[in-house]
Amino acid sequence: MGKVHNYSAGPCILPQSVFEEAAQAILNYQDSGLSLIEMSHRSKPFVAVMDEARALVKEILNVPDGYEVLFLQGGASLQFLMAAMNFLPEGGKAGYLVTGTWAKKAFKEAEPMGGVSLASSADKNFSYIPKGYEIPKDLAYFHLTSNNTIFGTQVKDFPESSVPVICDMSSDIFSRPIDVSKFDMIYAGAQKNMGPAGTTLVIVKKDALGRVNRRIPTMLDYSVHIEKESMFNTPPVFAVYASMLTLRWLKSNGGIPWITERNQAKADLLYGEIDRNPCFEGTAAKEDRSNMNACFLLTNPDKGEIFDQMWQEAKINGLKGHRSVGGYRASMYNALPLDSVQALVDVMQEFEKKHG
Ligand SMILES: *Cc1c(COP(=O)(O)O)cnc(C)c1O
Repeated sequence: MGKVHNYSAGPCILPQSVFEEAAQAILNYQDSGLSLIEMSHRSKPFVAVMDEARALVKEILNVPDGYEVLFLQGGASLQFLMAAMNFLPEGGKAGYLVTGTWAKKAFKEAEPMGGVSLASSADKNFSYIPKGYEIPKDLAYFHLTSNNTIFGTQVKDFPESSVPVICDMSSDIFSRPIDVSKFDMIYAGAQKNMGPAGTTLVIVKKDALGRVNRRIPTMLDYSVHIEKESMFNTPPVFAVYASMLTLRWLKSNGGIPWITERNQAKADLLYGEIDRNPCFEGTAAKEDRSNMNACFLLTNPDKGEIFDQMWQEAKINGLKGHRSVGGYRASMYNALPLDSVQALVDVMQEFEKKHG
């Protein structure tokens, strides 16, 4: 079977060149006669990989001085807890914007330590991003999720905040410009725009650390990982390497300006069809629609089986919506080509002609 159009929500599509280079590195890394995954993480070649990965993050996102870049494990899910442990002092409060499944999970980890919900879109099944809520000045931090992977909403304008901001950018990091200086901490599981599952990117402002009075377990302490340059324990060498390759790919193609334009073109093409085609309807509020994950329904759900068969025959993969929304979700991460979106739009138009 040839290449498929991969709309998987995560793990997801990565550039084909990354798959090829990563495969070669598993067999014989840089002609060393060794596989990348059988050498010491303290060896020169791997330390060089880690250094380059960190440098690429800083360069691509314009990370200001005073921030550290870490590659950790435990997924974005462990960051839900680590963020609270490292930034929420005993007796303090942190505000959460609850905009979806992942935001809810982040809030749940912080709640016993003083997390409070400032606003939620649960009333309309997370189909919009709340606006106009207040961020009290006495909070230790404000936490939000930039892109709600499951519900297909995205924060377009980050709210002004007088308290430090922590953001889960798992599903839209490296997809558009962000001003890192507005955040004390950004984190992202690799497997949606950066690399394979197994590592988590953390960008943290150094002087924001060390201010809590609680005892932080060693593995959960950002200061430890900074001190040990992400090698306190054995790092996930393959995941870091493949992420580094993806970042090289992004940089060599033109970085954030290039990817922003490409992602906008894909989103415009698909949402344009969802809005035009009477057989489909989007589920998210228009102004909050995600450029990464487009969620939509059939206006006549009885024809689901027919539509499913049509897109599967067109070699489209991973289009089924999450069970909490139903319908369809097209995840258009960085590596997904415009051609793949065109292939889906073609199927939608054919469906309209034959079954609309
Ligand atoms: C996928 C996802 C997560 C969970 O990431 P893990 O690495 O699996 O823990 C968290 N937040 C968002 C926004 C996600 O899309």
